[in-house]
Amino acid sequence: MSDQGSLMVLENFIGGKFVPCLSHVDSYDPSTGKVYCRVPDSSKQEVDAAVKAAKAAFPEWSGFSQEQRSQVLNKLADLIEANLEEFVRAESKDQGKTIAFAQAVDIPRSAFNFRFFASASRHHTTECSQMDHVGCLNFTVRCPVGVAGLISPWNLPLYLLTWKIAPALAAGNTVVAKPSEMTSVTAWMMCKLMNQAGVPPGVVNIVFGTGPKAGDALVGHPDVPLVSFTGSTATAQRITERAAPYCKKLSLELGGKNPAIVFADADLDQCIPTTVRSSFSNQGEICLCTSRIYVERKIYPEFLDKFVAAAKKWKAGDPCDSSNSMGALISKEHLDKVRGFVALAKSEGGVVHCGEGLDKLDLPEKNKCGYFMPATVITGVCDSSRVMQEEIFGPVVCVSPFDTEEEALTKGNGVRFGLAAAVWSRDVGKVHRVARQLQAGIVWTNCWLVRDLNLPFGGMKSSGIGREGAKDSYYFFTEVKSVTIKH
Ligand code: NAD
Repeated sequence: MSDQGSLMVLENFIGGKFVPCLSHVDSYDPSTGKVYCRVPDSSKQEVDAAVKAAKAAFPEWSGFSQEQRSQVLNKLADLIEANLEEFVRAESKDQGKTIAFAQAVDIPRSAFNFRFFASASRHHTTECSQMDHVGCLNFTVRCPVGVAGLISPWNLPLYLLTWKIAPALAAGNTVVAKPSEMTSVTAWMMCKLMNQAGVPPGVVNIVFGTGPKAGDALVGHPDVPLVSFTGSTATAQRITERAAPYCKKLSLELGGKNPAIVFADADLDQCIPTTVRSSFSNQGEICLCTSRIYVERKIYPEFLDKFVAAAKKWKAGDPCDSSNSMGALISKEHLDKVRGFVALAKSEGGVVHCGEGLDKLDLPEKNKCGYFMPATVITGVCDSSRVMQEEIFGPVVCVSPFDTEEEALTKGNGVRFGLAAAVWSRDVGKVHRVARQLQAGIVWTNCWLVRDLNLPFGGMKSSGIGREGAKDSYYFFTEVKSVTIKH
């Protein structure tokens, strides 16, 4: 890092060394609205250098034993944990989220991602079958693919980046990663730990910059045979086109428009606080956040009253103040976009029960120009509205009633996304039926965001292609070969 005035200036990490970049883009502190950091605006030249370094390091790293690779990953986890508070403060400042959220979720999970894949990768086995009638034994062999291109978004910066780097490395690949240009600081801090953790030079390269420049150069690089991407569906479409001429392996984790279906027999004492959390955690900037709540008509008035009362207590404000549940949204553009959805809902006859336009935020002087918005609950929006169809990715949730199980399913499935869903009922049979029929890669019943990292994570429809998790990530980051031996 160098100091330009009081601004942090980040550098790329290529071949085990920090390398300055000639041009930069500004990065804002969302809680103050001020530029505080300059991020390399890398282009093809920097990406080429990173891919070259990763390619050169591949024979050594892929030749390490599984045990050796696991040791390195565990050491990286140790080092992140040893610097936890520094990472927590940096993630909060860079992204706008509360210190409390970064401390409870982002940074511990980032360290755990390395620990998890260090362990999971020791337990994979390959397949074997025998065909005695022809005297053949068949088995599969799995090999790392090569240089993995990893592209991550701004909402859970280090968490989602390490969720890719860890399995890629565990499987024996080398990587070139590009974090979001809006939230690059914790990735850059992690680079400082690589040499100490024993990561050989060139095994992890991080190139900072924008999607259309650095991201595009990475996806289009002929020596990058696989790309793991988390971000918006629109960007995924561009990445798919760019990768098509090379027939690259693609893993795409995309947006959601996640429903919660609340039946009349739900335990509202659990459902209401959990659904407030699922709607507004991390300012609603989690791909798994609830965006549409369908409530059985019998309990609709009671649910709405209690839900709005609970949402009003979910305060937005200074991310450093532990009494706040939400910090700032990522950018001015994003705040305007989210507010635009509330305005659209109102123009279509929707009713805002709390939040935007109703509840004034009491912000300290230093946060007056930050990108804050209160938790907002809307009713009366029709299913075909853009508000009910498009991903808002902010602290806005729409509530509407339903009469039958069939109607709830039709509404729940009536969008192009299929990432996550929640079902609330005490009827086990109903829960099974509805979970089975919901078009979503992840269904939580009577809970939200309980994650077993062994299980497949990912979306259906426009929410993605492929799954991540212990076995699924291993399959993605390896090539499989079937071998037949005849005696
Ligand atoms: P985005 O698609 O704008 O950007 C994601 C990343 O892609 C960034 O690093 C960006 O620089 C890069 N990028 C942009 N254009 C590119 C291009 N042409 N070529 C290569 N790379 C390019 O998404 P975002 O706004 O950063 O993140 C929010 C989105 O991510 C939401 O839609 C959210 O639902 C989704 N998301 C999905 C998951 C999941 O696991 N399914 C998790 C978190 C976020």
